[in-house]
Amino acid sequence: GDWLGMIGGGQLGRMYCHAAQSLGYKVAVLDPDAQSPAGAVADLHIRAAYDDPVGLRQLAERCKAITTEFENVPAQSLETLASVSLVRPGAHSVAIVQDRIREKAFIESTGVPVAPYAAIHAQQDIDAVPEDLFPGILKAARLGYDGKGQARVNTREEARQALQAFGGVACVLEALLPLASELSVVMARAADGQAVFYPSARNEHRDGILAVSIVDAQLADQAIAIQAANAALAIAEGLRYVGVMCVEFFVLQDGRLIANEIAPRPHNSGHYTMNASVCSQFEQQVRVTAGMPLGDTASLCSVVMLNILGDVWFDRASGLKREPDWTAVLAVPGAKLHLYGKSEARRGRKMGHVNVLGATLAEAESAASRVALALDIPFQP
Ligand code: ATP
Ligand code: MG
Ligand code: MG
Repeated sequence: GDWLGMIGGGQLGRMYCHAAQSLGYKVAVLDPDAQSPAGAVADLHIRAAYDDPVGLRQLAERCKAITTEFENVPAQSLETLASVSLVRPGAHSVAIVQDRIREKAFIESTGVPVAPYAAIHAQQDIDAVPEDLFPGILKAARLGYDGKGQARVNTREEARQALQAFGGVACVLEALLPLASELSVVMARAADGQAVFYPSARNEHRDGILAVSIVDAQLADQAIAIQAANAALAIAEGLRYVGVMCVEFFVLQDGRLIANEIAPRPHNSGHYTMNASVCSQFEQQVRVTAGMPLGDTASLCSVVMLNILGDVWFDRASGLKREPDWTAVLAVPGAKLHLYGKSEARRGRKMGHVNVLGATLAEAESAASRVALALDIPFQP
């Protein structure tokens, strides 16, 4: 079969490989890490840095189309590859999304609201921000994920200290908003402009890391979900985006919808699609990368996705490391386990997830409670 290319060797790349191989493609993964989850299942693992000219040339010459699994791929690398092969999403989209300052300004320009914020390039910028950005969150403009590179700041003085602690890198300072809930929209846009949407997921974070995503198949056409899908479409069209992308949203206590950030790839909150949708977000990424017809995003059932962090390997009472009780998880009807094959479990590290399916949300939630109990992770239906 044809070869597809993937820049990045993490779990998103691994699930992409599985989906691509099921459709008859071979996948070449570019990642420097010999132990990478995607490299281990790829048909070819090119062990080189994301900006290594030799590795990039090898990838481009082998593959008819190339995609990526993380936003921090050097945009220049995508540009280099694009002179030889198809690259989706394009460098221009990724360059905006990987810098919070450009990302926020861009989202605003499409008419979609964002949190009140200020770009911070130096200490003087903190002196000038309006008082109503406090209490706020200082976020490094680049390279943050899972809440890393962020600090809650109650006062201007705390913001100054946080900026110094970050080494003075470019940041955004945004107001801490009163959230009612969080949701996200995963969508795909093809080269001809056609777009498809998955039902939006309701997300719960713990310590800045996604913990739970929930989709009630009976509530797919709620007004707020339609509003979110329209906002995601405006953003995708503005970016002339080709590929799978996700927009994270906040729903405020007064009901307003605010865009938080864009991921130029499949998203953790879309992992539910692997079992609860006709076509998963990874198959969708394969299709859109390869220029095949977009897949069916219809839901098959309701679903609760529970993330499995490395914490699950540490016994709560003794603190000692042990293998989690997978047998108890697999004994729960409706539970589908996905592990990423990471070499070492560390606290806060994403190791896998469980999609718990149900004909109704109540059914999925009650089964998810059993899974959560088996893994000793908190979950309240
Ligand atoms: P990801 O892993 O999703 O890329 P990230 O490190 O880019 O995470 P954000 O998405 O910016 O971080 O923030 C992580 C979480 O922190 C959000 O999902 C939300 O729960 C909370 N949060 C972030 N910004 C705000 C805000 N302005 N007001 C209230 N809560 C916020
Ligand atoms: Mg992020
Ligand atoms: Mg986020």
